[in-house]
Amino acid sequence: MLQRDIVIIGAGAAGLFAGIWCGRTLGAQPRRVVCLDGAKKLGAKILVAGGGRCNVTHHIVDEQQYAGSSRNAIKKVLRRFDVDQTIAFFRERGVELKREETGKLFPTTDDGRTILDAILGSTRHAKAAIVHPWRVASVCRDGDGFIITRDTPAALAGEAGFVGIDTDDEVAAVSELRAARVILATGGKSLPRTGSDGLGHEIAKALGHTITSRVFPSLVPLTIDPTHWLTKLSGLTLNSTVEVRTQAGKKLRSFTNSTLITHFGLSGPSILDISRYFTDAYLDDATTQLVLNWLPNHTPQSLDALLIDASRGSTNKLTTKRWLTEAGLPERLAEVLCIQAALIPGSLVRELTRDQRRTLVDLTAQLRVPITGDRGYTYAEVTAGGVPLAEVDVATMQSRVCPNLYLCGEVLDVDGRIGGFNFQWAWASGYVAGISSGATAHNA
Ligand SMILES: Cc1cc2nc3c(=O)[nH]c(=O)nc-3n(C[C@H](O)[C@H](O)[C@H](O)COP(=O)(O)OP(=O)(O)OC[C@H]3O[C@@H](n4cnc5c(N)ncnc54)[C@H](O)[C@@H]3O)c2cc1C
Repeated sequence: MLQRDIVIIGAGAAGLFAGIWCGRTLGAQPRRVVCLDGAKKLGAKILVAGGGRCNVTHHIVDEQQYAGSSRNAIKKVLRRFDVDQTIAFFRERGVELKREETGKLFPTTDDGRTILDAILGSTRHAKAAIVHPWRVASVCRDGDGFIITRDTPAALAGEAGFVGIDTDDEVAAVSELRAARVILATGGKSLPRTGSDGLGHEIAKALGHTITSRVFPSLVPLTIDPTHWLTKLSGLTLNSTVEVRTQAGKKLRSFTNSTLITHFGLSGPSILDISRYFTDAYLDDATTQLVLNWLPNHTPQSLDALLIDASRGSTNKLTTKRWLTEAGLPERLAEVLCIQAALIPGSLVRELTRDQRRTLVDLTAQLRVPITGDRGYTYAEVTAGGVPLAEVDVATMQSRVCPNLYLCGEVLDVDGRIGGFNFQWAWASGYVAGISSGATAHNA
């Protein structure tokens, strides 16, 4: 049976990076490292990321921006390949990154293809071959190594459509392959049409790993009932604070950022970031609430005090709607909030009853949004859950339960906030898996 030293399953961000560093560690020897991918077109996520601009990393990356397996373990991996190394890696390939106000780093070309081409160029230099579509159906243990079985017919192989790919015709022609070492880089379940559909979890389980009891879409828009009044404001975007709270009012997590109202519910950076924490808390307790403050500079108490202040004076002609817009709300929202507070159009601030004032403050600064669910993996940027980091030696990314198996990227139980953190995890964990598997193959 055809054999390769290192077979990487999945040629996404993590798998390609692992391939580069394996190849470099082995001194760019051909026919030793091969990346297999089930997709016809490579790098789908790199190309769609950041609205097509690819948010490669963040100016400041630390473990606090991640959830999942222990932050300490995440930190150990992140520090092995940091933001400066990411910048240097792309610079070496002629790609400059620019930092935006938010701290996110993008290629100066504003085009994700620049990033993908740079990575593919590096795999070629490192003599790591890429064969696709070569979808892996199963991986079985065979002595110290593995037998990898394909589920796409061999006849489909050899459609590499990118300049800069070194393929491996021998691997492309077979349906079974032996590997001395395997790097599992199959991603999670988000955006399944790109090929990341969770089969990697099954492969990991078949090799002795567990998967966290919870696996769910993260960085995902949240849904509300389509008849809810908020959906009438579809298209509205504004900076707000979103908070996960227990029914008793305990604040669990909050984010302040842009929030977008859509016909199905809520989206935008604040919602994507909170979605992970909301779902996790909701799975613990279905009474968990999502609370929205349209005026992040105010608390309900400070807003109430402001409203009382604005109502003083018997000849005061200030309308409630005007007061809301002066406080910073867009007119459309101000109008809808007045309607929801059952106020007649043009009602004056000084005429508000105590109950009306409190209702208005609640709608503005602590609106409980009845979330019905999320938009699922098709719209999720990442997957929460996966193989626990405790089952991996983070110094090498080698499995603790299956020798010669390495894991990297989103298949692991690590998910970051929006802002480039997920790619940085893919680069760092792919780097560690690549150099450590390469070093053991070199010494074998
Ligand atoms: C719409 C969108 C936008 C995003 N934007 C950003 C962003 O701007 N910044 C950021 O940091 N992160 C972003 N992310 C998240 C980021 O893309 C992922 O975290 C990252 O790509 C994970 O890398 P990975 O290599 O682990 O997995 P993936 O990129 O999912 O790659 C896994 C690969 O494995 C292959 N595969 C799976 N199963 C098999 C199998 N059985 N056989 C062979 N091949 C297989 C798949 O075809 C795929 O190519 C975004 C994600 C999405 C969906």
